[in-house]
Amino acid sequence: MKVTEHIAKAKETLFSFEVIPPVKGRNIEELYSNIDPLMEFNPPFIDVTTSREEYVYIDRDGLYDKRVTRMRPGTLGICAAIMHKYDVDTIPHVLCGGFTREETEYLLVDCQYLGIDNVMALRGDAMKEQKYFEPTPGGHTYASQLVKQIADLNQGNYLHDVVETDNAPDFCIGVAGYPEKHMEAPSLPSDLRWLKHKVDLGADYIVTQMFFDNRKYFEFVALCREAGIQVPIIPGIKPIAVKRHLQLLPQVFRTELPEVLVEAVEACKDNQAVREVGIEWAIEQSRELREAGVPVLHYYSMGKSDNIKAIARAVF
Ligand code: FAD
Repeated sequence: MKVTEHIAKAKETLFSFEVIPPVKGRNIEELYSNIDPLMEFNPPFIDVTTSREEYVYIDRDGLYDKRVTRMRPGTLGICAAIMHKYDVDTIPHVLCGGFTREETEYLLVDCQYLGIDNVMALRGDAMKEQKYFEPTPGGHTYASQLVKQIADLNQGNYLHDVVETDNAPDFCIGVAGYPEKHMEAPSLPSDLRWLKHKVDLGADYIVTQMFFDNRKYFEFVALCREAGIQVPIIPGIKPIAVKRHLQLLPQVFRTELPEVLVEAVEACKDNQAVREVGIEWAIEQSRELREAGVPVLHYYSMGKSDNIKAIARAVF
């Protein structure tokens, strides 16, 4: 079922979360052990991220061979496995980076065969060694182009006009939105114009980047509505878990941490205490958002579920 249908059917705020595929060579059971405790909160869908490829250096008798690899492959396989095991919708994150248009089409065809109704269309981060995102030759530069490819496919328009079909897919398309603007955007109004472009091309809903001050989300939603963006805007919540997040989250995600939260984390003696602060903060955020009637509360689990479970228990 589509995310938009889940939202339309729901009488109250839904719970959902995102998981990260395991590093290759690791067992999927570890992932299940983090999903199991969250299923009692009835998520209608679970997102599965896609990681960018990265360079590895292989020592060949002192000479280093540079190779490209994906350390966390398996997004689509994990989507299928989770659907099968838990009878829940899964949403693969589909990236511009690392994929040609043709590879994207094959991926979408696989999604249709598996009965996946939703895809999250994203540009993807820059590779670790790159300062900025560099498009893959033959791939897309912006998520909007990917949205257009998926929307075209929904109309039965495959690449290169080689297919006639009466069996087009009907993907519900999610895209990313940034309450504190995307790090590369020159301004929030500019970022909002490009967000509207994604929606105009066919995006059905937006999931936000993490934020720690609900006012940022409420202002963002108001600005989106003013700009004519009418699709559901799902807030993304991440509980702080370690002291290092104080530096890492603003640096990587360009999100501002409220001073009260920073002080509370700084006062913690160890990371167990930081976890407690992070959980309490996320509970407060979630309760306020739920009271405001957000359609879904979407949690970034980062592969661990104990803190998300504590939050969900207090909120749902
Ligand atoms: P875009 O919408 O393409 O925007 C990128 C930048 O370009 C913005 O600054 C925008 O304002 C600007 N822009 C857009 N269109 C144009 C245009 N036509 N001309 C000029 N400027 C333009 N990353 C991963 O690698 N894997 C994941 O699984 C993943 N999941 C995510 C899930 C969520 C909910 C979110 C919020 C992010 C996720 N990301 C993921 C991170 C995301 O890939 C990065 O934030 C990336 O830098 C931007 O992706 P985007 O889809 O927002 O890009």
